[in-house]
Amino acid sequence: MAAGAPVGADDLKHAIAVREAMRGVIGGNSGLPVYPVDLATLNEAATAGRLRMRFGPGGRARLEPEASGPVGALGRLVVTLYAAMQSEDWERLKLCSSDSCRWVFYDRSKNHSSRWCTMASCGNRAKARRFRTRQVSSPRSGEVSGKAGRRG
Ligand SMILES: [Zn+2]
Repeated sequence: MAAGAPVGADDLKHAIAVREAMRGVIGGNSGLPVYPVDLATLNEAATAGRLRMRFGPGGRARLEPEASGPVGALGRLVVTLYAAMQSEDWERLKLCSSDSCRWVFYDRSKNHSSRWCTMASCGNRAKARRFRTRQVSSPRSGEVSGKAGRRG
């Protein structure tokens, strides 16, 4: 898509839907369910972008959108997702477990068990929240009234 090409409100809405559908599919690598609506959104973007296989100068096949403009640009994003799925590292692409974050990140941990985009931000916030929850739900005797009234 050419820089400065016109983009409308519907294009923006569609782009956000495709982004969320991509997150939805990547969330499958984080153990979350992949919803049919996300698959339908991606299938629609691939169809609208008119993705076609092309063989490049080196003989390697690749997908390209025949559509131009915003629809073609979204088709190119779907191609990027497809290419990531072909990689042996695909399952390391995950969705941050923080509901307020939902960044996609590459899990570099040895056992592929990372849950947050970074420990420094989302991981530590989640740990602090769990710690506070434990403090409130299992108060020691004599601390019940003091802990229950304190929030945040
Ligand atoms: Zn995060």
